[in-house]
This record gives sequence, structure tokens and C-alpha cells, in this order.
Amino acid sequence: MEQFDHIVVGGGIIGASVAYHLAQERGESILLLERNALASAASSRAAGLVLQVSTNPTKTPLARRTRETIDRLTAELGEDVGFHKVGSIRIAASAEREAELDGMAALAEDHDIPFEWLGVAAVREQVPWLELSAARKIAFLPTDGYVDPYLLSMAYARAAAARGVEIRQRTAVTDVLTDKGKVVGVETSAGRIGSESVIDAAGAWAALLSERAGYPLPMAPVRSHYWITAPDPAYGGDHPVVTMPDAAAYARPDVGGLLLGIQESNSATFDARDLPNDPAAFSPTVGDEHWDCLADAAERVGTLFPGIKQAQFANYICGLSAYTPDGKIILGPIPGLSGFLVAAGCCGSGIALSAGIGKAIADLALGRNPEFDITAFRADRFGCVDPFSQEFRDRCAAARANKSRRMDAGISV
Ligand SMILES: Cc1cc2nc3c(=O)[nH]c(=O)nc-3n(C[C@H](O)[C@H](O)[C@H](O)COP(=O)(O)OP(=O)(O)OC[C@H]3O[C@@H](n4cnc5c(N)ncnc54)[C@H](O)[C@@H]3O)c2cc1C
Repeated sequence: MEQFDHIVVGGGIIGASVAYHLAQERGESILLLERNALASAASSRAAGLVLQVSTNPTKTPLARRTRETIDRLTAELGEDVGFHKVGSIRIAASAEREAELDGMAALAEDHDIPFEWLGVAAVREQVPWLELSAARKIAFLPTDGYVDPYLLSMAYARAAAARGVEIRQRTAVTDVLTDKGKVVGVETSAGRIGSESVIDAAGAWAALLSERAGYPLPMAPVRSHYWITAPDPAYGGDHPVVTMPDAAAYARPDVGGLLLGIQESNSATFDARDLPNDPAAFSPTVGDEHWDCLADAAERVGTLFPGIKQAQFANYICGLSAYTPDGKIILGPIPGLSGFLVAAGCCGSGIALSAGIGKAIADLALGRNPEFDITAFRADRFGCVDPFSQEFRDRCAAARANKSRRMDAGISV
């Protein structure tokens, strides 16, 4: 049987980042398995926001690591990884969001992340479509921005391959092989492959893989989506990313138009066991109850973006993000099986957190203490749950719906 030191399952941005970070260690043999094509699921559909300061302090070091890694990968590969360093603006239009923003300012200072307060006039100049009469405080983080999530995923994969990682696409992992409480390999569509270190980075399908290892992860697939207007100079070119937590919305430039993301109050959620293996064969926006989300949000968003009703939305992108009830990722071992690690449940932040997650998991797989505190991300923190039940999935959907309006909201999209 073929043998590798580490097998990473899932070739989205998380699997590619884990492989890249494992490959920093010389002499390890690493195999990345993807059953479709690299970055063909959530990682190519993301809006790509890379916001480093979250209202959830545990995420900030991971996101900061991603921001630094983007620069490192650009230098390492000698090519553009699609990052637009436009900065981000966050608008507080209520006392609650104002208090959050004060907390974020302190967090930015703790982590040496540039953070400024901006006046209304300065913001109006940069983002002409915003209506700011309700704004109480506005923050600007100049080193934030947005990235092409496909390009960044492929950059991790290419840099990993350049360091010796073997990547096999169109190879599905169908089972996890165990012996006396230890992982010993995987069964694949191309036969058995041995390894005492298997990493589950299977995105929305990660709970199905971990179930094969005896522990279905406490997460559920929840729909994320955004709309893009036709190119229009009224949107002001390459302006900063704008987050509007009072309106549960965000926006960024997109090839001359505006990309607008909305967190609806009842996010659609799905049973992971019903998902097809190929995301191209599935749309999470089906049925009459879903089609009008943009119109439903128009009033709420319209207080900050009055042009929403006239905007010519020409494109709609949706996909699945894996959410947990507390809006935090799942990182580390599962109970009862050694050698099996999980990097999943990214809660709409997998692009922004990708390098931090990859580094932490690589550290664990190599037997080191992660440099970040990952205790908040334990797989067993919800106790005994049925992650496929409607009740549990509703809790995950609520985490997405409420996230940008709670203290742990920051970078969820
Ligand atoms: C519309 C939308 C907008 C978003 N915007 C943002 C954003 O602005 N910023 C941000 O940080 N995040 C954003 N996200 C979230 C982000 O896209 C995800 O958190 C991230 O892509 C997750 O990466 P992943 O590698 O875990 O999953 P995926 O990209 O889904 O990759 C998982 C891979 O595992 C493979 N796989 C599954 N099971 C198996 C198996 N048994 N064998 C082999 N392969 C397997 C799948 O084929 C898939 O390719 C957004 C998501 C959506 C849907």
C-alpha cells in the first residue's frame, strides 16, 4: 500500500493552505486529495473579503496571518494572487455597533493592525454611494482588502506543489481506515493509501468524512450569497470594502460594478447527507421562498445604500458555507481517534482565516503546539449533538443570520 506522512482531504482553500504549511517542514511526504477539481466548491464562490479585525478576538491572529501570507505567496510565486489592498470601512449606525467598533479598535492595537477613525466627508469622497446621516462612528483599516479566492487557493496549491506536495484531483476519499483508536489511512476511489496523519478539510462535506471516522462534526451547510451590479461609474471605482453590520450587509467593488452581500434573517440550511458530491450539480437557491431575498433586504440596506432599489444587479452568486452554532471554526482532533485532524466549519470566513488555519493544523500534525490559541475551536465544544437534525441546522443558520450583529460577528459574510 502506498504510504504518506500526511494525507489532506479536500482541495479547497483550506486543504491547499494546510498542504502548503505542512510542506514548510522538509522531508515530510504529503498527499492532497480532491474528488473534483481544486477550488471548485465554496472557495471559488467567495466574495473574498480579507478583514483582519473581527469582533471575535480569537479569529484576529488567524486572519492577520492570512494577510501576511498573501504578501509572502506573492513574493514566493513571483505572481499576483489577486489581492486588492483597498482597505475596509466599517460603519456603526447604532449604539451597539459603536461599542463593538470601540472594541475592535482596541483589538487592532493589540495586534498591531493599522486602524483609523474617519469623518463622514472623507468616507463620502471614497465611497460616493453611501448615505451616512445615520453613521455614529466609521473605522478604516487600510491593510484589509479583498482577494480573488480562486487565485489565492491555487497559489497555495502551486506553492505546496513546488515544495513537493503531491496533488491528486478526481480522487474521492470514501472511508477512513482506523486501527485500535488510531487513523492508518484512507480508502479512495483509486484504492487504499496509508497514513497515520489524515486531515479533514472537506468543506461542507467535512462532517460526512468525520462521521466515517466515528465523529460527525457539529456543523451544517448554510447558504451564503451576493449580487453584483453591471459596471457603473456611480460606484466610484476601486473603493474600500464596506461592512454595514446594522444592515447585515457588506459591499466591495467588482470590475467596475458593486458586489453586495446580504445576511438574511432565515438563512437556508441543508442536510449534508443530501448534498451531491459535485457542487456544480446543486444550487442552494431553489424554491419560491428564496428568490426575493434582495427585495426583502432593500429597506434595511437602503438606509446606508439608498441606490439599492435602482441598482442594476446583473449577477447572483450563491454557495454553501459550513457554519457552527457559535459562529466559530472547528480546528483540531476529534474525540476517540488519534491522527485525525479537522480544519472545517469556517463560518463564512475561510478565505480570510485560511493561512491561520493552515498553520495551526500543520503545527498540530507535526506534533507542535500551535502558535495561536485554538481552544475555542474544539470539535467537542457543543457536547453530544446530531448535526444533521433540523434543530441543529437551525442553530447554525441563526449563527450566520445574527453574526454581523453580535459581538463575535466581524468577518462573516
Ligand atoms: C457566496 C459565498 C461568499 C463567501 N465570501 C467569503 C468572504 O468574503 N471571505 C471569506 O473569508 N470567506 C467567504 N466565504 C466562505 C469561504 O468561501 C469558505 O469558508 C471557504 O471557501 C471554505 O474552504 P474549504 O476549503 O473548507 O471548502 P471548499 O472550498 O468547499 O472545499 C472543500 C473541498 O473538499 C472536497 N471534498 C469533499 N469531500 C471530499 C472527499 N470525500 N474526498 C475528496 N475531496 C472531497 C470538495 O470537492 C471541495 O473541493 C464565502 C462563501 C460563500 C459560499
